[in-house]
Amino acid sequence: MKEQKTTKVPVWDLPDVPKGKLPPHLQLQRTRVLCTFDAPTHTESIQYSGAYAAMGVDNSLRLEEFRNNFRVEVIKLTEDDMEFDMIGIDAALANAFRRILIAELPTMAIEKVLVANNTSVIQDEVLAHRLGLIPLKVDPRLFNYMIENDEPNEKNTIVFKLHARCERGSPRIKVTTNELKWLPNGSELILSTEKPTQDSTSKTKTYTSFNCRQDTLPEFLDNPIVPKHDDILIAKLGPGQYVRNFATPLVNETSTNEASAISFTFPCMIESPHVSSNDTFSFGGFIKLAGAVGSGKNEGLNVMGTSGSVGMEIELEAHAVKGVGKTHAKWSPVATAWYRMLPEVVLLQDIEDGMAEELFKKCPVGVFDIEDIGKGSLIVFDQFIDRQLGRKRATVARPRSCTLCRECIRGDDWDKLLSLRRVKDHFIFTIESTGALPPEILFTEAVQILEEKCERVISELS
Ligand code: SF4
Repeated sequence: MKEQKTTKVPVWDLPDVPKGKLPPHLQLQRTRVLCTFDAPTHTESIQYSGAYAAMGVDNSLRLEEFRNNFRVEVIKLTEDDMEFDMIGIDAALANAFRRILIAELPTMAIEKVLVANNTSVIQDEVLAHRLGLIPLKVDPRLFNYMIENDEPNEKNTIVFKLHARCERGSPRIKVTTNELKWLPNGSELILSTEKPTQDSTSKTKTYTSFNCRQDTLPEFLDNPIVPKHDDILIAKLGPGQYVRNFATPLVNETSTNEASAISFTFPCMIESPHVSSNDTFSFGGFIKLAGAVGSGKNEGLNVMGTSGSVGMEIELEAHAVKGVGKTHAKWSPVATAWYRMLPEVVLLQDIEDGMAEELFKKCPVGVFDIEDIGKGSLIVFDQFIDRQLGRKRATVARPRSCTLCRECIRGDDWDKLLSLRRVKDHFIFTIESTGALPPEILFTEAVQILEEKCERVISELS
């Protein structure tokens, strides 16, 4: 793009501007952000209807005008990403869409984790946090929010089970999202307050109250609920560590009941992998043993007395509920949603030959090209030699790629040769979905939410 170089002229020498139009320099400030090498200028959007009243220009916002000017052009659309241009809109509205996308569109995310066993090196809290951040491939519009005192049911909760163990003598294993298994019938863990019953007809109470299996609902028949990606690392489990030379237990208690569990804490030495035991160990400065043991006062201790190891194990249930990103980022349906104003690179005069090549090399993202502009003549020793030379000129080939690094206007007077600008009402918008919904649906949902907000304001005012 080439434009006449701007020079300062006294106001009385300015050309006459037709009534109802702004002079070029004001029109430029109104519609463009000017990017000089130290800072951008004219960044504000001028909304006041009477801003140019003295020049006979009506600056008020008109719905009809907005309708005619507003355009959305999709540049790129994949399963998870979308890039589109929003043209003819104010920055405040573009930003409203961005904020709604990040913080106000709901998704399903793991909120409650019931840990039955965790002998891995990851603490329960860290494990629960990792699970919460796993994107789930499920349409949140099919679920209700869980409000206070609500029972977890098939319309507000999704339950997953995870059970992984590294066997003794096996190499270390990776536990990934692939291991998260959907439980369409709800929780399988018996409620801790529930008393054992002999009545075989009565249903044991678990941590959810599902009225039907979720996989019998029409929306999930051909669409099982799974994590969006099956290779996200949750934890690594090892085969355990070799233990020898037990000292006296600090807590000396055992059980005579075969079915019950016991727990000991020992100071010990840990050497290298192995133990044969049915029980579960977790290692640290102390050893904790928790599990069912046989009868006999010291049987538990005898088990501990033999050297050996057991593999690390994780067994848990994860309950996902509906929420929004402003409560916690795990519910945000987008990895990111962002925009930038359309860059505009303007050559204020022709840049030719050596200068053109220098400019071409200055730009790290290849905004400029060099075109051949035909033939010129060479003068050597004041003699005109009729030798034809190819001449070159710089052109702006890919202005959209400009990152506004300002490298091209650094150095001697380069800022007088070209101008970097941003178009104030043209936004290049990018949505990266986490996978619950495709990006184009996310955007239409965001439009709907903004519409509902506007309706709420109107009804409050009227
Ligand atoms: S500002 Fe940077 S990216 Fe943009 S045209 Fe200049 S050198 Fe290239």
